[in-house]
Amino acid sequence: MYEMGSFYLLLYKIMNVRRYQLVMSAGPKTKCVLVGDMFVGKTSLARVFVTGHFQENYSVSCGGTFMAKTLKEPPLTMQIWDTAGMERFRSMLPHFLRDAACALFVFDLSERATFLSIRDFWVDFVKQNITDENLVMVLVGNKLDRHRQVKESDAKGLADHYGMQYFETSAKTSQNVESLFHETAIKIIDAGAFRTQCAEPDPLDPKVIPNNPPKKQYKCCPS
Ligand code: GDP
Ligand code: MG
Repeated sequence: MYEMGSFYLLLYKIMNVRRYQLVMSAGPKTKCVLVGDMFVGKTSLARVFVTGHFQENYSVSCGGTFMAKTLKEPPLTMQIWDTAGMERFRSMLPHFLRDAACALFVFDLSERATFLSIRDFWVDFVKQNITDENLVMVLVGNKLDRHRQVKESDAKGLADHYGMQYFETSAKTSQNVESLFHETAIKIIDAGAFRTQCAEPDPLDPKVIPNNPPKKQYKCCPS
């Protein structure tokens, strides 16, 4: 019994499966990218949505990370790609954005500069690199629990200008996080911005944190 356990533990370590677990489920899937300046809370939002837990500090690793969560209603597997520090190396971002069907533009409500950089950099940059005409774009003002430096009307004005929906969230208190992703999923379904095959993992460093531990691990979309 013990030997069997050790064997599987060894196998687990050798395969380093946690790093390469990919979640596969039947039904439509979509690739959503989280973009915006560093420290605005992109990783926190994704983690809170997928795991339900907020953690004060996540280590910044380099290379894209993605997490997946399958919603029951609407039935959609959302692959949420997080830049994981790539914001610093913008030349790597076009690769990260490839094939995205949805972009969540995140800024920090308590840091006005992060809102201005959505307006002055991120929207144009993403539009230049994602040419999908069905691209769903959503504006997210995070850190709603802190003292705000960005007026709701300014953010709504920017969102309206680009035809985006606008949400204000707090990853810390989880306020609006569920509705952000839920309503985005509805928008994605309405726009037809999904596919039945999952996106390829990022060859830089794919990490997937499933919402439920999968019974089997296997690669999806083998090349
Ligand atoms: P990223 O660089 O955009 O991925 O940002 P992180 O998710 O790593 O968050 C940066 C810092 O902001 C971390 O210290 C988080 O704990 C903190 N943070 C993230 N979201 C919130 C929030 O909604 N409210 C507050 N007060 N802090 C947050
Ligand atoms: Mg991050």
